[in-house]
Amino acid sequence: MSELYDVTIIGGGTTGLYTAFYSGMRELKTKVIEYQPNLGGKVSFFYPEKKIFDVGGFLGVTGEDLVKKVEEQALFVQPTIVTGEKIEAIEKQEDETFQLISTGGEMHYSKSVIVASGMGTFDMQPLGVEGSEKYDNNQIHYTIQNIQQYAGKKMTVVSSSRVGIDWSLALERVASSVRLINHTDQFKAVYEHDMENLENSSVGVYRNTKIEKLNGDDRKLESIKLNNNEELDTDHILVYEGLHIEKSLYDQWGLETDKGRIPVGTDMCSNREGVFVAGDAAIYPSKTMLIASGFNEAMAAVNSAAKYLDPKAKSQVYSTVIYKYHK
Ligand SMILES: Cc1cc2nc3c(=O)[nH]c(=O)nc-3n(C[C@H](O)[C@H](O)[C@H](O)COP(=O)(O)OP(=O)(O)OC[C@H]3O[C@@H](n4cnc5c(N)ncnc54)[C@H](O)[C@@H]3O)c2cc1C
Repeated sequence: MSELYDVTIIGGGTTGLYTAFYSGMRELKTKVIEYQPNLGGKVSFFYPEKKIFDVGGFLGVTGEDLVKKVEEQALFVQPTIVTGEKIEAIEKQEDETFQLISTGGEMHYSKSVIVASGMGTFDMQPLGVEGSEKYDNNQIHYTIQNIQQYAGKKMTVVSSSRVGIDWSLALERVASSVRLINHTDQFKAVYEHDMENLENSSVGVYRNTKIEKLNGDDRKLESIKLNNNEELDTDHILVYEGLHIEKSLYDQWGLETDKGRIPVGTDMCSNREGVFVAGDAAIYPSKTMLIASGFNEAMAAVNSAAKYLDPKAKSQVYSTVIYKYHK
C-alpha cells in the first residue's frame, strides 16, 4: 500500500501549488496529484506569455514566470508531486482515511483531501498528421512556453484561430521565419486589428492548407509537406486547433455541486467531512475566479484540514514558522 499523507491536493494549478506550500508550512505531509505532465493549470495552458498585473507583489509578471515562482515556493517545503495522473474517485475507508483512485488504477491514501482541480481537465486537439506523436514536446508543441527557445528558428504555426495569429506575431520577434497554416479560409474569433497586424507582419500565411506529411527520422523532424505539394524546412511546429475540455464530475465524488462547482463556506469545507476545496473549483457568494482568490482559499482550506486532522491545531500560523528552512 502506498504511503498515507495528511493532505492530498487534487490539481497542480496555481491554487494547488500554493496549497501545497501552505500545507507544508503547517508541517502536514503533503501530496499533489496533477493530470497534466506540467504544473501551473490554466495559467500554463492558456496564457503563459500574457502579463498578469493583479497578483499582489508582481506588476506585469508573465504567466510562465508566475508559475515558476509558485512552483518554487511549493517545492521549498518538499511535497510529493505526482504528474500525469487523473483522479477518478475518492472513497472513504473504514478507518476514515481516503483512498483516491486514478484513471490508470493507481491508488493514493490520505487523511484529508483538498480539491483544487478547477473546472476539470483540458487536452489540446492533436495535430492529427501521421507520426506526429514522436516529435511531441520536442519539435511539436501545443503551448508557447519559453519563447526564447525559438530564437533564430524556422517556425510553423498550425491554427485557424486568433491564438495562432497571436503566437505567430510573438514568434516573429525572435524566430528567423514564421508561417501560419490554416486549413480553412478564415480565422476564428479575430478582431479587425488582428488581421491588420498579421498583414503588416512578415508571417507567411497559408489558407485552405494542411500539413500532409512530416519528413524526418525518429529523432528529428526536418521539413513538412503541404497538400499543395510545397515542402517547407521547419525546426518547430506550434499547434492550436482548440481544446477538449472534460468537466470534473464532482457529484460522482460524493460532493454537492452548483453549476459544476463545489459550494463552500468561508472555511472551504465541502459537504463531505475531510474534503476541502480551493480555487476555481469552489463556489460561494461573491466568489472571484482569479489567481489571488485561489491563494487565499488555499490557506483557509489548509487551516480547516489542519483542524480536521487535529482539533487542537492553531486556526492559522504566520510564515515565521518556516524559519527552520532558512538555517
Ligand atoms: C484566458 C484567461 C485569462 C485569465 N487571466 C487572469 C488574470 O489576468 N488574472 C487572474 O488573476 N486570473 C486570470 N484568469 C483566471 C485564472 O487563470 C484562474 O482563476 C486560475 O488559473 C485558477 O487556478 P486553479 O489552480 O484553481 O485552477 P486551474 O488552473 O484550472 O488548475 C486546476 C488543475 O487541476 C488539474 N485537474 C483537474 N481535474 C483533475 C483530476 N481529476 N485529477 C488530477 N488533476 C486534475 C488540471 O489539469 C489543472 O492543472 C484567467 C483565466 C483565463 C482562462
